[in-house]
Amino acid sequence: MVLARGKGTQVWDVEGREYVDCMAGYGAVNHGHGHPRLIAAMKRQLDELYLVGRAFYNDQLGAYEEAVTSHFGFERLLPTNTGVEAGETAVKLARRWAYDVKGVPADCARVAFPEGNFWGRTLAAVSSSTDPSAYGGFGPLAPGFDIVPYDDLPALEAHFKAHPHTCAYFFEPLQGEGGVVVPQEGYLRGVRELCDRFNVLMICDEVQAGMGRTGHDAAVWREAGVQPDLLLLAKSLSGGLYPVSCVLGSSEVLLSVAPGEHGSTFGGNPLGCAVALEGLAVLKEERLSENAQEMGEIFRAGLREVAAAHPGAVADVRGLGLMNALELSPEAPAAAWDVCLEMRDRGLLARPTKEHILRFTPPLVIDRAGVNRCVEIVADSLRARLA
Ligand code: PLP
Repeated sequence: MVLARGKGTQVWDVEGREYVDCMAGYGAVNHGHGHPRLIAAMKRQLDELYLVGRAFYNDQLGAYEEAVTSHFGFERLLPTNTGVEAGETAVKLARRWAYDVKGVPADCARVAFPEGNFWGRTLAAVSSSTDPSAYGGFGPLAPGFDIVPYDDLPALEAHFKAHPHTCAYFFEPLQGEGGVVVPQEGYLRGVRELCDRFNVLMICDEVQAGMGRTGHDAAVWREAGVQPDLLLLAKSLSGGLYPVSCVLGSSEVLLSVAPGEHGSTFGGNPLGCAVALEGLAVLKEERLSENAQEMGEIFRAGLREVAAAHPGAVADVRGLGLMNALELSPEAPAAAWDVCLEMRDRGLLARPTKEHILRFTPPLVIDRAGVNRCVEIVADSLRARLA
């Protein structure tokens, strides 16, 4: 199958076959394919100015920074391009803050990551991975990273106590590539309290979970009043049209790196800023988070009904908003990959995370009929492959 065209929640292959896109570019196309406002904003800006470099200000950057910082409640934004670049930047900021503010001795700063983390494919990202298929054969790996169990506050507390040079806890408010793992209610508040108590930066990687995906503009807001020290956005920050990412945070942390000490050629370019500005406006005006919340509930209810028909083969249905998963049990007679092939043949595109987890992240513009159609295809596919 080779894809050639997309509109809203649908994509078409070169033979003209139509599919519901339940991948949406790994959760990047939240606004739907071919959103007219995003395309118009991009075309408009393309005719004006697309790249000058950060040696100069451009007229889109300030407006973009103002809109994103005020919407997400931060003092400053550092513009980057991809998700992993935002993550690398956050690690550098946390280390510099450790030395300049926290008083960690030179080169001793440590960053904690949870088991099952995924934040990209660069050397630092794979160095903190617990997945041998991510880091194997790429050594020597970067030092200074520790692993803690996910969704385990006592373990995090014990880790902070045992490692006083820890400067940051870098995690997703729910793990996407790790298998759509939703932590217990109270985990995010607990992390915030521990980070405050031990003077550790709370870094929320919302590259996949942010921008409405979980039913909240920021996934961490699921627990009222919880605000991280650094928030990372990418993927759908631009609606998936163009690589735009950012690190949001306080002046104390972001200004620990002086002008000229970090940067990138494309970071903050006017084209990306213009698209992201429009993307944020569409997120708000089209109430994408609210729709994700509502449609997500219908999606999970449908998946639970489907699961009930296969009690031995389906282990779990879970998720938040429109990031959902159906986990097959070890006894299931088919792998998640086989079910994905069956769903493709019936008009739905999805991809497993891990070998046994089907993950569904459609564009957030999906409506009730679209969700029902997805559930129907999942039901038919499981019936065909698990019978
Ligand atoms: N962080 C998370 C949570 C992700 O899911 C991903 C990609 O899937 C990344 C970071 C890396 O983003 P990118 O592929 O844009 O570098």
